[in-house]
Amino acid sequence: MLRVNLGQLGREASVAVDGRLPNDEELWKDVGFSWVGDVEVRLRASYAGTGEVVLRGEADGTLSQECRRCLMQVETRFKKHLTMVFVTDTSGQDDDGGLYAFEPEGSELDVSHAVREELILAVNPYVVCDPECVGLCPSCGVNLNEGACDCSVEEVDPRWAALRDLKSE
Ligand SMILES: [Zn+2]
Ligand SMILES: [Zn+2]
Repeated sequence: MLRVNLGQLGREASVAVDGRLPNDEELWKDVGFSWVGDVEVRLRASYAGTGEVVLRGEADGTLSQECRRCLMQVETRFKKHLTMVFVTDTSGQDDDGGLYAFEPEGSELDVSHAVREELILAVNPYVVCDPECVGLCPSCGVNLNEGACDCSVEEVDPRWAALRDLKSE
């Protein structure tokens, strides 16, 4: 959990909000990717304007995702700079991202859901294990990076294809 202590923030100009979001937390359920180990988050919170709380910092971790073509797990380092603004009234604001409702629980503000949202937006969902990955055979499912299969590949003679295009015009 990542929480800003609002009492401390009131006394000090800014406070550090550092923590880890464990990869097995409910937060990461059904997001389409998983983390290898914890996500490290380093933020600094400060008041801005009339009661707005601004958090700036970064998060990093190691992503584990399926290759879009062959479904192998691909691990990549991930790092993202974060800027999040918590406002008491989000209506009428231009939300071009990074804007969240300021809803403290007692004297604390939980920012883990905002961090989650920022990270989901930043993760590229289309990863490949290798730009040259040839994927799986559509008929037998064999990983073609590891070798050919016995399926006959239906090749269309380019001359016939041209003729067919003419006909359909
Ligand atoms: Zn692949
Ligand atoms: Zn095959």
